[in-house]
Amino acid sequence: MSILCVGSVALDSVETPYGKAERVLGGSATFFTAAATHFHPVSMVGVVGGDYPVDELDFLSERGADLSGIERAEGESFFWAGRYHDDLNSRDTLETRLGVFADFEPKIPEAFRASRFVFLGNIHPDLQNQVLDQVDAPEVVACDTMNYWIEGTRKELVALLERVDILMVNDEEARQLADEPNLIKAARWIRERGPSTVVVKKGEHGAALFTDDRSFFVPGYPLERLFDPTGAGDAFAGGFMGHLAYVGVLDADEMRRAMVYGSVMGSFAVEDFSVDRFKTLRTEEITERVHEFREMTEFGGARR
Ligand code: AMP
Repeated sequence: MSILCVGSVALDSVETPYGKAERVLGGSATFFTAAATHFHPVSMVGVVGGDYPVDELDFLSERGADLSGIERAEGESFFWAGRYHDDLNSRDTLETRLGVFADFEPKIPEAFRASRFVFLGNIHPDLQNQVLDQVDAPEVVACDTMNYWIEGTRKELVALLERVDILMVNDEEARQLADEPNLIKAARWIRERGPSTVVVKKGEHGAALFTDDRSFFVPGYPLERLFDPTGAGDAFAGGFMGHLAYVGVLDADEMRRAMVYGSVMGSFAVEDFSVDRFKTLRTEEITERVHEFREMTEFGGARR
């Protein structure tokens, strides 16, 4: 059974110190699916407007994505524009136009309702809630969000947490959501509200996994060529969930391995603009990078 992914299917205009891309494929669901389909089939649910270049999503269907849950509505597609600062770690949102997203009511096709793995990409928490009302009994519900929703719809988001197993946010979002500067305490605050697991993404500095009994940290891949960080977080989620769905096991070891696959897919996302790097990415390249992560972090334990 494929992974159900609901989120934004966007057009992005992005400026980084390395160049510009205008109205290119973006959105949380798009990045997630581009990464996750390297491991497992994905069923996408979202909405686009009449201006969306839907043919450009064909590469996802070719990789095993089911796009039948993407509605075409009259109006403008979700549009996001951002500009990155020189260090590429921070960015300014220049514009967010919800377009057809403003009236979007996700309808989960019958065939997707029995999904074991559900990824709620970054959209209004009420919509994320509506998705969960329509699925049978998923084993894993992972959820992403961003400052836009934490600021605007905090109450709805906190209520949603009760229904979420894994919250995936970046460090700034975790602190903002919990209103707590210490990340360990922020993760605990979040876990006390529902999710048994919190994954905190830290851009080029990697990511942390917080569960009941243990924490686990994975570095970011040291890249020399980095073009566009947009979507790295969703690609991380795609690698993470894609791995779990592929192995079908949810124990502590596989969760850790999922963190590494997440970090690997995030690192590929930033090597090119939009989802372009995922179009040519080969399985051997993914595996090679996983091996490199192992080499980078293995140190043989304490001295004797
Ligand atoms: P990330 O870099 O992982 O935060 O993901 C950026 C992607 O999220 C871009 O492709 C945007 O189109 C999309 N995005 C930006 N703002 C929002 C929002 N408020 N709701 C949903 N998606 C968004």
